[in-house]
Amino acid sequence: MSLHADEHRGDQCRVDECRACGHRVYPARLWCPACGHDEARPVAVDEGELLAWTVMPDKGRAAKPDSGSDSPNPPRSPGLADSGPVIIATVRAVPVGPVLVVRLQAPPSHIGQRLRLFERQVSGRALPWAEPLPDQTRQAEP
Ligand SMILES: [Zn+2]
Repeated sequence: MSLHADEHRGDQCRVDECRACGHRVYPARLWCPACGHDEARPVAVDEGELLAWTVMPDKGRAAKPDSGSDSPNPPRSPGLADSGPVIIATVRAVPVGPVLVVRLQAPPSHIGQRLRLFERQVSGRALPWAEPLPDQTRQAEP
């Protein structure tokens, strides 16, 4: 069997890389936008850099009057598989791109933060997902 064993951390996120010039795109295109070649191969991208993010309004919950506070842990609706806020982020895969629009697992802390990219199966479709990585640049030496 050539099947990869399921990793506990989920499927790798894959983008298309042009076989002629190496340009990477996501989602897949029929032709390379850089050189027009029509053959691409999937390549895995593990990590990205946060360019921007936005928290979508929660449609499943009645809008509450602004409490004036930035609650880090908003109340969650019981029974929802994907409870919590929906966070959409624009991410540039490192080191060579491309830019992807992904769902974020948890709120990020700042622009430029490193994210781990993976795929999640949602309703039978593989969707690009990401989670913030610990900020390594701020870590002090013990
Ligand atoms: Zn190309």
